[in-house]
Amino acid sequence: MLTKEEIITMIEESVGTSQYNNFGVIGMKDLPMWENPIVGFAKGDDPYFEYYKKSIGDFYWLPKEVYQLKYKNESINDSQLTVISIGFPQTKETKLEQRKALEMPSDRWLYTRGEWECMIEKITEDIVTKLESDGMKAVSLDSIREFSRHTSEKFGIASNWSHRHTAFIAGLGTFGLSDGLITRKGKAMRFTTIIVNRQFEPTQRGYQDHHAYCKFYQDGSCGACILRCPVVAITKDGHDKDKCSAYLQRIKNEIGPDIVKNSHYISGCGICQSKIPCQDGIPK
Ligand code: SF4
Ligand code: SF4
Repeated sequence: MLTKEEIITMIEESVGTSQYNNFGVIGMKDLPMWENPIVGFAKGDDPYFEYYKKSIGDFYWLPKEVYQLKYKNESINDSQLTVISIGFPQTKETKLEQRKALEMPSDRWLYTRGEWECMIEKITEDIVTKLESDGMKAVSLDSIREFSRHTSEKFGIASNWSHRHTAFIAGLGTFGLSDGLITRKGKAMRFTTIIVNRQFEPTQRGYQDHHAYCKFYQDGSCGACILRCPVVAITKDGHDKDKCSAYLQRIKNEIGPDIVKNSHYISGCGICQSKIPCQDGIPK
């Protein structure tokens, strides 16, 4: 049976060798799109999952509810499940390009966002197959059709699962002023989640507070992400999701380059994730 360490190595290999993890779309097949991932484990019955459901809304899933979307009619408790969170850091090259962005995200950033859905489905399918061949049952959130957007009475736009909030539970990082998760590899990241029916030791959270790594929340300093946002969607009060989302729609429908305007791509922005002290790691 695979150990936790062997699973982490297997995930790293799956990402590193995936034929989908590269910039082939712009003729650069030798250039990886994402760096070596970071991986955290959480217990399926970690109280944070219940807490999220209570705070965000009844539509928010518990781990067992996700599991049972694939393994219908199987009786299982959250305590029998482990939630694996995987974080994908942007590469140095993409971040260098994105640092120059002022109003429009860089082309490379838009490609990483646009290619994400297709790539993550293939990579997590591969990981799920490997986990299943070890005797586990495994579910990738990004393969679940019902994974979609809702509206939370308390928080506005919300999905029925949050990869970032899961990454927080799995010890990968804490939230910054702009809502992004600050990890040891920085904030320019995307996340995915896989749930398995085997129990593993959870990754220790090296923090007590969900804002522990953000300088603004710690001592009122920094605020660099406020200055990076072209539409003032970040202020000292936090991240205005509606304003941010409206800007992404404008990029997609009106002002963006052809990469996103005349394609199936979902538009991204992420200017607030670059040229800031938490871009590449936990700020000192
Ligand atoms: S740029 Fe500064 S204020 Fe913004 S999330 Fe990072 S540490 Fe916090
Ligand atoms: S992603 Fe949203 S919050 Fe961040 S810079 Fe772009 S519009 Fe502003």
